[in-house]
Amino acid sequence: MERADIVFSGMRPTGRLHIGNYWGALKNWVDLQDRFPCFFCVADWHMLTTGYNDTSKLRENCREMVLDWLAAGLDPAKCVIFRQSDVSEHAELALMLGMVTPLAMLEHNPTWKEQLQELAKTKAGMAAAGESIRYEENKQGAGYELRTFGFLGYPVLQAADILLYHGTKVPVGRDQLPHLELSREIARKFNNAFGPIFAEPQPLLTPTPKVPGADARKMSKSYGNAIDIGETAASLEAKVKGMYTDPTRKSATDPGHPEPCPDNERGCAVFALHKLYASESFVRARGADCRAGKLGCMACKKDLLCEMSGPFEVFRARRDSYRASDVEAVLAEGALKARAAAQKTMVAVRRAMRLR
Ligand code: SF4
Repeated sequence: MERADIVFSGMRPTGRLHIGNYWGALKNWVDLQDRFPCFFCVADWHMLTTGYNDTSKLRENCREMVLDWLAAGLDPAKCVIFRQSDVSEHAELALMLGMVTPLAMLEHNPTWKEQLQELAKTKAGMAAAGESIRYEENKQGAGYELRTFGFLGYPVLQAADILLYHGTKVPVGRDQLPHLELSREIARKFNNAFGPIFAEPQPLLTPTPKVPGADARKMSKSYGNAIDIGETAASLEAKVKGMYTDPTRKSATDPGHPEPCPDNERGCAVFALHKLYASESFVRARGADCRAGKLGCMACKKDLLCEMSGPFEVFRARRDSYRASDVEAVLAEGALKARAAAQKTMVAVRRAMRLR
């Protein structure tokens, strides 16, 4: 029997989300919850694969992230919001899928290889500086062993996450296609060994617009340039006022360079955000006015603040309507639904493997 499409996606709980996360993933999730049955997973076990050395903020980060999901418009009445570690079947299925996953496949995973290259560079650098190497170091310089079974095997856990719910559609950007291909390959290997239990998950290519940080570099918490979903009116205003624009403009009548170009390599962050928050016709006119030196950057920032204020007020109102205990209730209810689906899958998996 053909199954209806099911959407599965997840995020590592890194705490409060920024508008890069919103435009890159969350906005799509909010749209998808009206079109498909959706499972959205707080991937706390995945957080451990690279961050097991410090779990002090893990619970708090889960809570803050779910609050931002709710603030952005995910509705627990329309989709299943749950925490991975509340559904132990993820671990069981990952173990079973691990039986059919060749080691070479994991060793060729680009993320794993990049991490090893980072390690090699760090080691070479330390050796050249005459330093003794006591720890492996990741690219953030954290001193702990990263070449672990857990990190090497995270694609198997990722495959288990999706397949446990018979996720047939996985919202991804183009850059994440290789990761999904690993899950598809693992599903094929299992089906070849034990029969057709899993449909191969298909990518649901979603728009991932470029969202620059306040300094016009890629938005990232580690750069300190992020605009959070939960900004207050005052903090949003301060961030917009401080945004990078065009260093070649000394006065409002100087011709500007809103897009990245040799005169303004990063491009203007304000202009890039107008593209997300204003109409196409406004953006066209604003680009022309900027190039012609018809307005100053402060006026342009004021316009951006007006455009962003409405959506941020909506986020804030939703966020403020939930208490910490509400988040736990949402996760508990989501865990019940997720577990019911996961247990059904595991009955079929155990039977196919002749464990039962
Ligand atoms: S006028 Fe607007 S678009 Fe042009 S550089 Fe200033 S802030 Fe950027």
